[in-house]
Amino acid sequence: MISVFGSANMDLVAYTGRAPALGETVTGHAFRTIPGGKGANQAVAAARAGARTAFIGAVGDDALGPQIRAALADAGVDVSRLRTVPGPSGIAHIVVEDSGGNSIIVIPGANGTVTGPAEDDVAVIRRSAALLLQLELPMDAVVAAARAARASGRERPAVVLTPAPARELPAELLQAVDLIVPNEHEAAAITGETDPEKALAALLATVPEAVVTLGGEGALYGSRGSAPVHVPAFKVEATDTTAAGDTFAGALAVARTEGMPPERALRFASAAAALSVQREGASTSMPTRSEIDAFLTV
Ligand code: ADP
Repeated sequence: MISVFGSANMDLVAYTGRAPALGETVTGHAFRTIPGGKGANQAVAAARAGARTAFIGAVGDDALGPQIRAALADAGVDVSRLRTVPGPSGIAHIVVEDSGGNSIIVIPGANGTVTGPAEDDVAVIRRSAALLLQLELPMDAVVAAARAARASGRERPAVVLTPAPARELPAELLQAVDLIVPNEHEAAAITGETDPEKALAALLATVPEAVVTLGGEGALYGSRGSAPVHVPAFKVEATDTTAAGDTFAGALAVARTEGMPPERALRFASAAAALSVQREGASTSMPTRSEIDAFLTV
């Protein structure tokens, strides 16, 4: 089983010819509500890629909470540890211009109330083969979850961190991480190195394994004491790269918990991400296990 401790949002997306300036009103041409949040996205990616997946987090007691919960459950994610708390759910308010450019306001809502895994959550984490973390919850909560996984004894879950949005990482978090999966911008923000190979080497000074994703250029994998490996991206027509990284991280965790060696696991994750960028949306774009397997055998 994989557990994901993270954020769940509803993306409220307005599509318009151009975004309004301050004080201005424009008429847009479409509006969609799309379940999102990095935590929820990674949970959906892992569940669709074939793992039993539990999501630990919070939604509000507003009208959006049940919709976010239902989207996770529909994707096959176990939502028994998803709490409903008083107040609004997390939202991302997104304006997409016809040019493709966007501007986003994230309001954490219920996500901001999470202080750490509760006792029952810790029991779920300790039964898991991997714990997926991102940085859209308060940092203290993320650190508490990582430490809970670390304290699980010999059969402890692998702690996989997507350090997004990029923030300063406390040493006690890094000490508890087994695999870190930043994109190249996050890797540069964390390490100060804009060259991905140098950033990878810097990450490996504190974490045993790292993957730096490079968008359409693929991904770089490294572990302490071995040469870095570049796994190219699959050549596909990308229409929407939203949540490519979350799809990649969720699928990578599935592959690793199934015991695939690193390069094969990266190919599996790259295939899942390549399928997702060919479709619109975040969680709605994530491929199922049979789609990933079929893609890899072509
Ligand atoms: P993020 O979404 O976090 O910014 P990236 O853009 O680095 O992450 O993408 C993550 C992974 O998704 C890449 O390593 C690659 O495997 C896949 N991917 C992203 N963009 C493309 C693309 N245009 N074509 C094929 N695969 C892609």
